[in-house]
Amino acid sequence: MKDNPNPMQKAHAAPRCTATSKRSGLPCKNPAVKGWSVCRMHGAGGGHGPGKANPAYKHGMRTKEAQEMRKDINELTRMSRVLGKLVDDGGQSA
Ligand SMILES: [Zn+2]
Repeated sequence: MKDNPNPMQKAHAAPRCTATSKRSGLPCKNPAVKGWSVCRMHGAGGGHGPGKANPAYKHGMRTKEAQEMRKDINELTRMSRVLGKLVDDGGQSA
């Protein structure tokens, strides 16, 4: 016990909750949950999952994957339009 005379030192040094009390207006100061910036009383571990686990999930066309796919398709369409324009211009000038 020579190395650490106070076993609570580590707990006291833990990162603190960043929330502000709506009653007093003062910072919460409770220890934050690991991986969160807030304590267990201020929403750590809360929220809902992504995709089908999300209560707002309707048809899947607004998921991250669907949006990425749309983005890729739009990019390909844009590129094909540019290519088509280049081919048309090449044909007219040559
Ligand atoms: Zn808190």
